[in-house]
Amino acid sequence: MRYEGAIYRPPSEAESLILQVTIGCSHNKCTFCSSFKDKKFRLRSFEEVKEDVEEAKQYARYIKKVFIADGDALIIPQKRLIPIVELIKNAFPKLERIGLYGNTKSILKKSVEELKELKELGVGIIYLGVETGDQVVLDRVCKGTVLDKTAEAAKRVKDSGIILSVTILLGIGGVERSKIHAEATGKFLTRIQPDYAGALSVIVVPGTVLAEEVKKGTFEVPNPYMLLEELYTMIENIDADHLYFASNHASNYLPVKGWLPEEKDAMLKAIKHVLQQKDPSMLRPEYMRAL
Ligand code: SF4
Repeated sequence: MRYEGAIYRPPSEAESLILQVTIGCSHNKCTFCSSFKDKKFRLRSFEEVKEDVEEAKQYARYIKKVFIADGDALIIPQKRLIPIVELIKNAFPKLERIGLYGNTKSILKKSVEELKELKELGVGIIYLGVETGDQVVLDRVCKGTVLDKTAEAAKRVKDSGIILSVTILLGIGGVERSKIHAEATGKFLTRIQPDYAGALSVIVVPGTVLAEEVKKGTFEVPNPYMLLEELYTMIENIDADHLYFASNHASNYLPVKGWLPEEKDAMLKAIKHVLQQKDPSMLRPEYMRAL
């Protein structure tokens, strides 16, 4: 298998075969993100992908999930993506699911019918970075989209029957918009009703625009308890039919997880308890936090 640069995948793809079909992220402009800064976006050729799949076939009996990397592989035009997905499906008889990252733009480039076609071939989950439900923050971090479009993209994925997993970013509104960001994000999750939502906490990575903003004093990272307040407000504002919400990513100070609405009260109670105690030993230590 050939991999170019650092490879990123969602935590739930830890046991998946990672197949790098695109290099980098087609957007690559978010101020907080350093993931693909060193990569110029391009699609790998079908021949290269095929060689990797052929190599991985020797492990076919173990491969149940494949994750198509990098940044937003869904941007691959349907005519090129279908043969890749077919190649994967035919190579691994025990395959249960193919997953990939999408963004608002790449999802909206596909019709519901095209997404259904991908689902028929094994694409079972799309990961979408929502980050915030606050348009002001979305603009500030240069996400390059508007909430109405993201809601439309989310609906398209859901209408296709593919699982929609989204990430949101605690702290990305800074101290200034902390409360607004938290409330708006909870409400936005209510609006789009994803199947899974994962909360990450902002970590300022050197070399990013966000790091410059911190240096200039135009962005202030909320402290751990403010991030927990955000988590609380966010969950409080989610009115979900059936959503698995988790903050167990390594960037967070407090892992909580559970099904909403069933476990909402228990999750809020757990966060409230830590907020009341204000005992630093109840938080993940700084040295163990990572993106
Ligand atoms: S956050 Fe996602 S869309 Fe934004 S630059 Fe990073 S990989 Fe690309």
